[in-house]
Amino acid sequence: MPALTAAQIVAIASRYTPPDAPCACSALKCAGWESLPATFDASLLRSVGRTNDRDPYDEPTLEEHHPQGTRYDAPDAPIALGHFPYNRCEVWQCVRCARPFLRYTEYGGYYVDQRIRELNAALVVDTAATQD
Ligand SMILES: [Zn+2]
Repeated sequence: MPALTAAQIVAIASRYTPPDAPCACSALKCAGWESLPATFDASLLRSVGRTNDRDPYDEPTLEEHHPQGTRYDAPDAPIALGHFPYNRCEVWQCVRCARPFLRYTEYGGYYVDQRIRELNAALVVDTAATQD
């Protein structure tokens, strides 16, 4: 799976135009991070790349980036590519309307949770470029 640059990620998100008729992917309401519903048809999405081009042996930071005081699951939280969890995501698109999403797997103590968030170009911040 190719590593995408911030510019490529913004380009994918910017190309999306909502279809006139509601698409099957409209079942996903995920302006902020949500658990992928177990009932959602996973074949509606295809992966197009990943957000992280760092050394795979270099553990990405768990720090979050919220300069405006947002929270992890806020719909207006920045998509900070150098910060958690955007530094470990895959970029997916709806196979029908090309609506873009970010996905990653949250590993809790006793659970594994698939998280998904719509990829909104206006919220992307390339904080990776300013890190070490
Ligand atoms: Zn769709």
